[in-house]
This record gives sequence, C-alpha cells and structure tokens, in this order.
Amino acid sequence: MTFNDLELINPLMRALGDAGYTKPTPVQERAIPHVLAGRDMVACAQTGTGKTAAFSIPLLQNLHESGKKRKNIRALILTPTRELAIQIEQSLTDYGKYLPLRHTVVYGGVSQNPQVSKIRKGIDILVATPGRLLDLMGQGHIHLNNLEVFVLDEADRMLDMGFINDVRKVIKVLPKKRQTLLFSATMPGEIQDLAKKLLHQPVKVEVTPPSTTVEKIDQSLYYTNRPDKRKLLLHLLKEKNIGSALVFTRTKHGADKVARFLSKSGFRATAIHGNKSQNARQKALSDFKRKKITVLVATDIAARGIDIDELSYVFNFDLPEVAETYVHRIGRTGRAGNEGSAISFCDSNQKSELKGIQKLINNRLNVVSEHPYPMTDSEEQPKASGGRGGKRKPKRNFKRRSSGSNKRHSGGRYKN
Ligand code: AMP
Repeated sequence: MTFNDLELINPLMRALGDAGYTKPTPVQERAIPHVLAGRDMVACAQTGTGKTAAFSIPLLQNLHESGKKRKNIRALILTPTRELAIQIEQSLTDYGKYLPLRHTVVYGGVSQNPQVSKIRKGIDILVATPGRLLDLMGQGHIHLNNLEVFVLDEADRMLDMGFINDVRKVIKVLPKKRQTLLFSATMPGEIQDLAKKLLHQPVKVEVTPPSTTVEKIDQSLYYTNRPDKRKLLLHLLKEKNIGSALVFTRTKHGADKVARFLSKSGFRATAIHGNKSQNARQKALSDFKRKKITVLVATDIAARGIDIDELSYVFNFDLPEVAETYVHRIGRTGRAGNEGSAISFCDSNQKSELKGIQKLINNRLNVVSEHPYPMTDSEEQPKASGGRGGKRKPKRNFKRRSSGSNKRHSGGRYKN
C-alpha cells in the first residue's frame, strides 16, 4: 500500500514526500482511513510504530477539508511529557507545512506567556501536557467548547505517571459530539474502562512493534555488583569503542552520578531528567543528536519520545521496575532498519526485575560472563554459556511481540 491509496490530499502528499516517507507503516495503513471517515478509534501502538503520523495526517486533512474558520481550538492532542508534546507539534509542522492550519504546544516548566499569546492569536490544533492545559483552562486562556477532535496519546503512560485524573478533568469539559482517538502501548484495565466511557463505537487497531526492531537487537546481560556498574559501563564504552549510547538509570540522582563519572573519565556525557530545565533537556537532546555528546544518561520519563534513528547502543544501567519499560527502552535502538545492541546490568537486588523482563519477552538475555567486574555479592552465581546464551535454551526467539500485551503494569512507578 502507498500513501496514494489512502486518498490523501496533495499538500499532505507533498509534505510526506519531503519527509522521505515512501509507504505507510502498519498503524498508519489501518488507522488513517477510519480517522478520515470520522470514526472514533482505540489503537494499541507504541512509540516507533509511526503512530504520531497515523493520527496527525488524517487530522490535518479533516480539519482542512471541513474548512471552518474558528478562533477556538478545533483539535486537542493530549500527551504525557514535554518531549512528546514538542515532537508531536514538530510532526504537525512537518506534515502540515503546505496547509494553512495553525497549531501550538503548551507544557509546564517554562513561562506560560509565549504560549498564551500564541493561543490568543487563534489556533486550530493544540498539543498539550495535562498539567499546563488545566492550568491555562483554569485561567480562562483555553476554551475547548468548539472542539471537534480529541486525541489522547500514550494513555497508559498517563496512568503510570499519575496524570489520569487530570486527563479525566479535561475530558469532562469536552463537547459530547466530537471524534476521539485513543493511543496506548498497552491496555491495562483502567485504560480499557476509560476507553469504554470515552469512545463511541470505536474502530480497534492493534499493531505489533516492528518485529525487526526487537529481532535485530542484540540483547546481552552482565551480572555485576552495584558499586561496579559505573566502572563496567566505562570499560564497555572503551572496549567496544562506542560512539553513541543512551544509558538508562532508575533515578535522577543516579543519572547525574553516572554522567559526572563518565565526564571525569573523559567522555562527553550529560544527564537528562525531570529536575533539569526544559531548555537544558532540549539542548542535551540536540547535542546528542548532533554527536556533540557521546553518552546521554536518562531516566525513563525524560527519555520518553526520544527519537534518534541511528542509535546503536542502549544500556540498562539499572533494570527497570516495570518489565514493559525494558521493551520501550531497547526499542530506541535498532530503528530504521539499523542493527542495535541493548546491554543490561543486573546486580544482586535486581534479579526479580530480570525475571519479570525475561518472562515478558519470553526469552533469556545472553549472559556475558567474561568481564572484569563480575558479581561477587550474591550467593547464587549465575552461569553463562560461553559468554552467549542464557542458562537454559531459549524457549523461542525474539520475534514475539512483547509490549502490546494486556498485562497490567505491576504498579511500579518511574522515579523521575
Ligand atoms: P512515532 O511512532 O510516531 O514516534 O514515529 C517513529 C518514527 O518513524 C519517527 O521518526 C517518524 O518520523 C518516522 N515515521 C513515521 N511514519 C513513517 C513512514 N511512513 N515512513 C518512514 N518513517 C516514518
């Protein structure tokens, strides 16, 4: 299927050509015709599947074609993090470059004045994070009474991050007659309940993350002692001559410590997390993309929405508490057909997290035992099979999709 088959208007086709897209991704193929037809939709799709374009492109087309000129906001895209909000707005700019529709983005942590003045001038599409949106609504700067389309993006993350009540407050003020699109990587019970209330006879779209992504990623595991993790990371960065790596830590403090240690050891490293100002986070991201920084150390929330096509290494300095987060993290590498490596460290306190991850992906990570900092503080010394392969033969390979399951998150919260 091509974008032509989706009956997109010329200004969109030109913009997609400029972006270098040749054919729609599976979620785009399935979602775009229904969204164009005005249907409500619930889509199970995660970052990296092309979901932003799946809702942005038909949204732009519908708003343009219906041609109403209103001062009030016609479409709202609600997303959990500032980074995602900025990226979605950038997508609207890219795909909508030949259309006269106006859009802007609002998020917290920065002055509201420039945001308010853009809204005052009149916009068609607003991209927002929940807190700042409610704030500006409360102050009377934003009115959603003429809303035609509501997109709820990354609904499961909203739940994880404790934003779901804010989302409910927003929903309460939306006009009843509207089109609603809900996107979520997973469908925990609470999101299913929300979807039932929110959507009217929705079309259901479910896509697996591109299997090649997970298939192509070399996933290895290093058992080590907690205090040795930084030295092991440094050793691997040097040994493998790694030019660019994203390192995940569980806490902000941990991210800072790792970045400082690497900087002292001569690497260009920076940490991004929720305590950093928005400007500092954006700068770190763009420095990383432009290879001015070699190692970006991030917490999960800060890393949401990071989209770097040529990332070849992801390190799980700490294993995530929520198993599905592992899949999100490693999905940052191996994009756009590139090969990728995900290297995980496991200390003696993280064995249950490891178990959860291996259960979710239905496979064992390849244990590398030949390294200078093996685990010594555990009675149970894990065995490796020649540096590759786990203790037991894998039940199956990585082809299985692992993040679209209906499993509820285990209640773990990201410490950002
Ligand atoms: P998303 O899942 O929305 O975060 O998109 C992931 C990445 O895929 C982004 O870098 C998009 O620019 C890119 N992308 C989206 N749709 C397509 C397409 N049809 N062809 C090529 N790249 C795409």
